[in-house]
Amino acid sequence: MNSESQSPDLIKKGQGYYVPNYKPREIILDHGKGARIWDLDGNEYIDLGTGISVNSLGHQDPELVDALITQAKRLWHTSNIYFTEPAIRLAEELVQASFAERVYFCNSGGEANEAAIKLARKHSSRHFPADKREIITFKGSFHGRTLATVTATAQPKYHEGFEPLPGGFTYCPFNDFEAIETTISEKTCAVLIEPIQGEGGIVPTAPGFLKHLRELCDRHQALLMLDEIQCGMARSGRVFAHQWEQGVTPDVMTLAKALGGGLPIGAMLTKSKIAAALKVGTHGSTFGGNPVVASVARVVLRRVQQPELLDNVRKQGAVLQEHLKQLSESLDLFKEIRGRGLMIGAVLNDTLEGKAGKITEHCRAHLVLVLQAGPNVLRFLPPLNITDEDLEEGLKRLDSALRTFSVD
Ligand SMILES: *Cc1c(COP(=O)(O)O)cnc(C)c1O
Repeated sequence: MNSESQSPDLIKKGQGYYVPNYKPREIILDHGKGARIWDLDGNEYIDLGTGISVNSLGHQDPELVDALITQAKRLWHTSNIYFTEPAIRLAEELVQASFAERVYFCNSGGEANEAAIKLARKHSSRHFPADKREIITFKGSFHGRTLATVTATAQPKYHEGFEPLPGGFTYCPFNDFEAIETTISEKTCAVLIEPIQGEGGIVPTAPGFLKHLRELCDRHQALLMLDEIQCGMARSGRVFAHQWEQGVTPDVMTLAKALGGGLPIGAMLTKSKIAAALKVGTHGSTFGGNPVVASVARVVLRRVQQPELLDNVRKQGAVLQEHLKQLSESLDLFKEIRGRGLMIGAVLNDTLEGKAGKITEHCRAHLVLVLQAGPNVLRFLPPLNITDEDLEEGLKRLDSALRTFSVD
């Protein structure tokens, strides 16, 4: 750090002015290119976290930058009182890429899930008795921070102090084939699940679990709603993570994070018959379908469907998993390495319990950015188009960080 560095001052301001709900690393990130990112003091990091699965095509991707600038010079915002071409095209392309027939745009994952929850309730209110409004979610899930989505998030630590919480949510153990059979009932209007739990520690659904849910939802006339906000958009090695399982067509799917390639957007996808519940005036978002963001998202959606990109996700995911396994064999670090594609969690051994935060900070000091998912899991979400060279360099830095980490 040079003596004229502005970083310490800025960091102090950030710590002083922000509401203290975050604890950012004490660096100021300044610019990026591909899988690399630089701080204000010129330190170069390898980014294996992509802003939590958002910058999935890396930083400053030329095609994304072009799409942004081109649209920025035309039109920024219209509200939902008018159509714009980028949002219409994006909706069409999302429909073509998925099971869906209709799309609702908003600005974040929480809002997309909020829309899904409201849709489920409204749909049920049109077709079923008043006691069929219950929504089932799963332990360890994460669905957002609004009051309804945080209630859907079946982890008590996110609820504390925000009571009274909205009613009508029921929690079920994740991947428990029998528990869900006894939890679901004629009162259930929807089941909401992440095909791969993200914040909960990178936990994929067990083989057959989504199919089991599909059958139970059909039997009980409940909607199957998939939260693909973190695991979707090719992160898992398929465009949508539920496509790993045969015969699972959801009724609703939510997207956000990577959809905008780094710009804020959320989307809720569904079938026409279900969408019909959200009549004019029932729901909305001022910025939803913003033409600048939609223009960028169209490029992202096209790119994540390219076979070469999906191949790269699977190939580099295997390299990363194998590397973590070998590292763990020599250093005795992890009890499990799990995930799919480039969404990988490494579960810390008991000797390292609660140390995920300290380890990710130690990695940061070794110039590689990784994430945690809870106190005991290191989480890796590299750019989907990461090159052999960048991944190798990132892993080299990870090795030197993990080899020098000491518990106290
Ligand atoms: C991040 C995330 C959300 C919330 O998205 P925001 O954009 O932060 O509101 C919801 N569900 C899952 C699975 C997520 O990973």
